[in-house]
Amino acid sequence: MEEKKEYYADVIVDISHEKLDRPFQYRVPDRLRDRLETGACVTVPFGNGNKLLKAYVVGIGQVCKYDPAKMKEIRGIVQGGTGAEDKMIALAAWIRKNYGSTMIQALKVVLPARRSVKRLEHRTLQRALGREEIVSLLGESRRKKQVAKERLLRELVEQESIPYEWVTGKLGVSAQTVKSLERAGAVRVISTETFRNPVSLAATREQKKLLSDAQRRIVEEVMGDFESGRPDTYLLHGITGSGKTEVYMQLVSEMVERGRQAIVLIPEIALTYQTLLRFYNRFGDRVSILNSNLSPGEKYDQCERARNGEIDVIIGPRSALFVPFRNIGLIIMDEEHEGSYKSEASPKYHARETAIQVARLHGASVLLGSATPSLESYYRAETGEYKLFTLKERLTGGQLPKVHTIDLRRELKEGNRSIFSRKLQELLADRLSKQEQSILFLNRRGYAGFVSCRSCGHVMKCPHCDVSLSEHSGGRGGQGTLMCHYCGYQEPKPKVCPKCGSPYISGFKAGTQQIEEKLKEMFPGVRTLRMDGDTTRTKDSYERILSAFMGGEADVLIGTQMIVKGHDFPRVTLVGVLAADLSLSVGDYRAGEKTFQLLTQAVGRAGRGELAGEAVIQTYSPEHYAVVTAAAQDYEAFYQEEIRYRELMGYPPVENLLAVLASCPDEAHLETGCRFLKEYAVRVTGRERVDLIGPASPGIGKINDIYRKVLYLKAERYDTLVRMKNRLEQYIEVNAGFDTMRIQFDFNPMQVF
Ligand code: ADP
Ligand code: ZN
Ligand code: ZN
Repeated sequence: MEEKKEYYADVIVDISHEKLDRPFQYRVPDRLRDRLETGACVTVPFGNGNKLLKAYVVGIGQVCKYDPAKMKEIRGIVQGGTGAEDKMIALAAWIRKNYGSTMIQALKVVLPARRSVKRLEHRTLQRALGREEIVSLLGESRRKKQVAKERLLRELVEQESIPYEWVTGKLGVSAQTVKSLERAGAVRVISTETFRNPVSLAATREQKKLLSDAQRRIVEEVMGDFESGRPDTYLLHGITGSGKTEVYMQLVSEMVERGRQAIVLIPEIALTYQTLLRFYNRFGDRVSILNSNLSPGEKYDQCERARNGEIDVIIGPRSALFVPFRNIGLIIMDEEHEGSYKSEASPKYHARETAIQVARLHGASVLLGSATPSLESYYRAETGEYKLFTLKERLTGGQLPKVHTIDLRRELKEGNRSIFSRKLQELLADRLSKQEQSILFLNRRGYAGFVSCRSCGHVMKCPHCDVSLSEHSGGRGGQGTLMCHYCGYQEPKPKVCPKCGSPYISGFKAGTQQIEEKLKEMFPGVRTLRMDGDTTRTKDSYERILSAFMGGEADVLIGTQMIVKGHDFPRVTLVGVLAADLSLSVGDYRAGEKTFQLLTQAVGRAGRGELAGEAVIQTYSPEHYAVVTAAAQDYEAFYQEEIRYRELMGYPPVENLLAVLASCPDEAHLETGCRFLKEYAVRVTGRERVDLIGPASPGIGKINDIYRKVLYLKAERYDTLVRMKNRLEQYIEVNAGFDTMRIQFDFNPMQVF
């Protein structure tokens, strides 16, 4: 007689955060076995009185964890739950299924932060004098060179009231400065209790713009689809200043008129005061913000306000997706190409796909916007999965900058050993003499490893993967080893360039600090500001440096990628990119895309104001399509080249990639585990083609004495990889050998490991 198999389900009876870590196990009755899924809402008898409670299934298995004689049974499945809570559970179940994690981890992602005991007071700064008086104070502080005060007053000229946290946060004005203005009777600080309607005064200020024909067509199509019950996903491709934000605001307002809510996602780094202000001025206190400056208590409050219907619009980074609105009509994702939309912690969900899922649950539309769309989104627009809109003209005037591409190999050949090309030196001198500002951008991505020839620019690449090799120290004879992060291929680092025989092979080693020193040697007296990971350790130092530069406190701003995002500098007329190819050669299939995006953004920093701009791109690979197309500001041309490469190599978005990251303190154990994992994967591949690559050591093979390995699975369909992930998850769970290993899944990773 065959033994009957029992199934058991872990359920949680209450999804307030504290209880999440304590699931209860129930027997799954035969009649429910085929219908019960993780994420389902069920009824269970609970406690001594066996009171019937609603609960959610977070896991199903065959291992009984308690005394089987005492185990209770699930009573039934609750059908068709549509409450806000059920939607959240459904979303968590979807995230768990598509990205891999436990249900508990997924629930923690989608559920709002717990209320902290202390509630923070909300304060607003209001001007206490008329506009003219503020203007005269502004003149005075400008003469006295009180930069912070000037910044605040300039804002107050435009604006009758400002949320206090923006004053100290985004504007970088100290409490002391505010105090002195308060004493002078120029401003007053108002707290929540006395402050009923923060922006009714200001709400009339930003008048609705009359949309251009191109903008109006977009709004009409999105709303038309929505009205006819076919909300869709749209990609809006438009250069900075082409009027995307205006389209966003119009769509949000259409949705709000229809009693629906809107989520506006913005990457944290681009979450600028100006953008917030525009929404704030348009929607008044019906809009709220979620960002990392808020305390958990404040975040909780924003969620409560959303739940209670007190707000219609939330602006924030990817976590804003989980604000518990009842009836979302629209999700906007600005700068949709940004890497920060992907979660770095498990479950490694991508906000773009998750937004589409949230929209599906609510019957909402999704609008993705970017000046340099991700390959994923543009590909989906090309294949008809998303609808594509394009805005071509810059409404703000200002021409695209003139771009000079400088071949660094030739500079070396013609005797210039400086890190500044002759063209860049000439233009820097010119700007300094005219008292215009410049930005020097060091593309530091991939700084750590890749090796190239300084004479001919040749980059050492993996013969199997067409990505560059990374240098690892400590090869035989201290010579160093070159390694591929995809497949594990390695070779000793050559002593001379295999292409031209030059002995000058290394990476581009200068950091921002050396650049600053060299600049000061070359132009004594030049005033500089530096922005990189070192100078922006504290939260507001980033804003402080930017506003100091904005306020004219320096001639040249030197920095890494963080300077090219989000901010507008009207007085910058020259941008120098010191080594464009640093990001090109990192061992990563997204290298070309990242380089194009960074270069396009960097070049676009010049000439935003009335003065025309110029940009210098210094590179060892002037012929590379990412450099050529970025210099020409031609996205379409870039896309065509890049997608051909992805097609050829079967990389996303054409095919799908799953990284299985394993880590373990015991190296030998890790290696054995990975081998078993791979063998198992091969066995369960089934009829569909799945390529297995690795296991290889990632770029950082060991962190804190924990060894790491990565195995890549490549398949045409995402579903195939989800199935593989499920099989691997089960395999890992039932084999005790994996107990000491940590396994994480990363679908279509933003970088290789
Ligand atoms: P993007 O979001 O693409 O950078 P914005 O929406 O910020 O572009 O628009 C750029 C500038 O043009 C803004 O100053 C905005 O106020 C202005 N603008 C946008 N649309 C219109 C319009 N239809 N009429 C007049 N000005 C507009
Ligand atoms: Zn060479
Ligand atoms: Zn390789």
